[in-house]
Amino acid sequence: MRSTDQVISEYHAAVYVRLSKEDEDMTRRRKTESNSISNQKELIFDFLKNKSDIKIVSVRIDDGYTGTNYDRPAFQLMMDDIKAGLVNCVVVKDLSRFGREYIDAGKYIDRLFPFYGVRLIAVNDGIDTITKDTADEFGITVRNLFNDNYCRDISIKTRSSLKVKRRNGEYTGAFAPYGYMRSEKDHNRLVIDEYPASIVQDIFKWKLAGMNPNGIANKLNETGVLSPAEYKRSQGLNYKSGFKMKSNSMWTAVTVRRILTNEIYAGNLVQGVRTTPNYKLKTLKVNAREDCSVVEESHEPLISRKSFELVGRLLLMDTRTSPKEEYVFPLAGMMECGDCGSPMVKKSSVCRNKMYFYYMCKEYKEKHICSSHRMPADQLERTVLAILQKHIQSVVDMNVILNELGNLPFRQIHLKKAEERLKQVEGEIDRYRNLKILLYEDMKEEIVSKNDYLEINQQYEERIGAAQKSLLQIKKEMDRLLHNTTEEQLWIQDFMKYRNLKTLTRTAVVELIEKVRIYEEKKVVVEFCHFQDYEQLAGYIKELYDAGEIKEVI
Ligand SMILES: [Zn+2]
Repeated sequence: MRSTDQVISEYHAAVYVRLSKEDEDMTRRRKTESNSISNQKELIFDFLKNKSDIKIVSVRIDDGYTGTNYDRPAFQLMMDDIKAGLVNCVVVKDLSRFGREYIDAGKYIDRLFPFYGVRLIAVNDGIDTITKDTADEFGITVRNLFNDNYCRDISIKTRSSLKVKRRNGEYTGAFAPYGYMRSEKDHNRLVIDEYPASIVQDIFKWKLAGMNPNGIANKLNETGVLSPAEYKRSQGLNYKSGFKMKSNSMWTAVTVRRILTNEIYAGNLVQGVRTTPNYKLKTLKVNAREDCSVVEESHEPLISRKSFELVGRLLLMDTRTSPKEEYVFPLAGMMECGDCGSPMVKKSSVCRNKMYFYYMCKEYKEKHICSSHRMPADQLERTVLAILQKHIQSVVDMNVILNELGNLPFRQIHLKKAEERLKQVEGEIDRYRNLKILLYEDMKEEIVSKNDYLEINQQYEERIGAAQKSLLQIKKEMDRLLHNTTEEQLWIQDFMKYRNLKTLTRTAVVELIEKVRIYEEKKVVVEFCHFQDYEQLAGYIKELYDAGEIKEVI
């Protein structure tokens, strides 16, 4: 027997896995194998991967026994190991693995494990009795766990097993997305399907060149490229006959847009976007991105991250311009009336048999509020180009100084920012930890009911978890800043790339310009991307100059 207060540096763990009759029935019905032996093991091993203090000494499997049978052989063997002092830690997928009556009786979980000083981890229930908090709440959790509908339990677990697969970057969809196919070696991995992949790349290229989804769809149809649905048919993936060609589906703006917004092409696997909220509601819910499973670099990308983000920005902007036009003007969707803030609209007129375009304030055009702010399109483009070129030049100059300084200013700026964020997040964690203590006291004094306690405490836990995650992120970022100087120069590279810009292209505009404001008398103000970074850097260089540390200044 071991005292629970004893400090143990290494745990000898038994992994306990059980497939019950109920699981089997479930499996057949839902066609998933969430509780299969291998899935339970996978989840536990995944969880233990980074826990260096836990050594697995045995894996005990009870296959096909019902939860009502107390004499399950593997469970008994595990208990023997515990009594012999060979095992001081038990890891299960969730408490229900022990069977309902074990928990109801509380004999093992509530009494025997603590008595033998056994650390218990129930991965999906978030229980680890080594942490004091969990140990305190543990008894309550156990008692509450099975008051609830058993159905709910199974439903949650089915989903969490799918989650593990997704987290591992395994593709769980029914069909590989256009441009990819399932690897022959590993069915859960995506590999490039050459022909459609080249089409996807063309679609992105055309979008970057200023084409609209509509124009792209037309171009694909005209050149006889099979739509994703037709391609799938031609490959015989979906239809056994392979001759179901009557309803010939064509490329549409929607298909093109779907491809342009699918992160899978940038190498990220985003899954679990649509889920059923719980076992009661069977309707589909679209999850916010942070609730989805995103695995970066899970497969070979077709498009660079950068291009993908750029296309995203372009699409957002296109919604503000006419969707019927196949090509968009370089500044479309970016212009704003400097005085009233409404968008500028494009108009055309004919002068000496020549058509020309101009922009005017939308408020003025429609309601005759504000004033016209009329400006010819070509004059506006020339002006913006000149302003842009000047700005690019000053970034180029800054880069020269920066290189001489070995990027020092950059690191200082970013480190300072990161330190501030670090403090903030740490403060937040402290705050919620205090709240947790107060809440616990309230529960003891019966100000808060046990159920409310569990619910609120869970919320605090989640906040703390999220904060700890960002803490890790910030620390990683700081580490990177101290040891590497390439990343923070990315915005500079954005501008450097266009240092020989001669005409105003849509791509350059979208990549470098945030907004163009037009005032009366054809006064134009351009708001650049990364302007804060620019200002900060300029300020820092000026400080160094004032302090006499550098001789030249822009
Ligand atoms: Zn206006």
